[in-house]
Amino acid sequence: MCGIIGGISERNVVPVIIEGLSRLEYRGYDSVGIAIVNQENKLVRNRVVGRVAELSQVCLSDVKFKGYLGIGHTRWATHGGVNLDNAHPHFSNDKFAVVHNGIIENYATLKTELIEYGYKFDSETDTEVIVHLVHYYYQELHNLLDAVKKSIARLHGTYAIGVIQKDNPNYMVCARFGSPLVIGIGINEMYFASDISALLPVTQKVIYLEDGDVCQLNLTKF
Ligand code: GLU
Repeated sequence: MCGIIGGISERNVVPVIIEGLSRLEYRGYDSVGIAIVNQENKLVRNRVVGRVAELSQVCLSDVKFKGYLGIGHTRWATHGGVNLDNAHPHFSNDKFAVVHNGIIENYATLKTELIEYGYKFDSETDTEVIVHLVHYYYQELHNLLDAVKKSIARLHGTYAIGVIQKDNPNYMVCARFGSPLVIGIGINEMYFASDISALLPVTQKVIYLEDGDVCQLNLTKF
């Protein structure tokens, strides 16, 4: 197993995501990464084939690696070797980023279809089809939540996913089927993670998602 975490906040989420990833280490992993929308409104990522502590050093030495919206992942490779290209988060057209736990059983068929549409693949993972599907359906629907819903309807297999979009840094979307996922409600911030332990430093107010759930998380008070 492995883990995902994501956050949207009025503060820099990178330290929270790193702490959360370190709390997911017990689940086992071979590589780790974070993607954020930074203060220049660019989608950027840091990934390492190694430990969370190494990723933390990379992020700390990267002074511009700060943002209010981000996602993180500890990978346990199922499709594609253990290398940097296969480490999550995965991007589509530098506009969308995804983290994924699980296995997409029909990824080969979807990959063939997406290559026909002109998508280029940077990894050998099953996961990368998800982010290109989201990009593809976003062109038609112009709404991230709807694009994610339409994308996951195409998937066979198991997933807990988190998706962010460069051009809409005010919200993120997560969904699950067959892999655990929990929402954390903080004070002026929202998170998701594979395991409540990753969220305990920021909140104890959580909602456990069920298979088939899809959530949009933003900072609107409710
Ligand atoms: N199947 C995906 C991969 O190989 C995700 C593995 C995981 O759950 O970490 O990259």
